[in-house]
Amino acid sequence: MEALSTEYYVFPGVTARALLRYRDFLSPPGSRPRYPFLSDCDCRGCSLDDVRHVRDVLGMVLRRLPPRARTELGRLVASLDAVYLERTLPDPFVDTRREWRRGVRWYRRLEGCRYAATGVV
Ligand SMILES: [Zn+2]
Repeated sequence: MEALSTEYYVFPGVTARALLRYRDFLSPPGSRPRYPFLSDCDCRGCSLDDVRHVRDVLGMVLRRLPPRARTELGRLVASLDAVYLERTLPDPFVDTRREWRRGVRWYRRLEGCRYAATGVV
């Protein structure tokens, strides 16, 4: 399925990588909020740094799957979505911005900086 995709961001192995990345983002123990951040590069590998893009890709994959596989992966993604909504904060200004993705649930969360997240700055 991934190999047959004509979508640039859906490539062989992407489902496993996306799931891993989504889990990884949500995995630090504790109750401190997590902040999604932009990736430095738009290529399909680096783009997976942005967990919101990861969720977009999982959505693309889900739409292409046959029903049974879709149900299984969908369940997994839904459980991660629930954690994502718990561990990220709503962006109070999202409706004042003109971003085309503001209607998408996982983009309606406060964004952070990747370097702040790793303690580099
Ligand atoms: Zn890149």
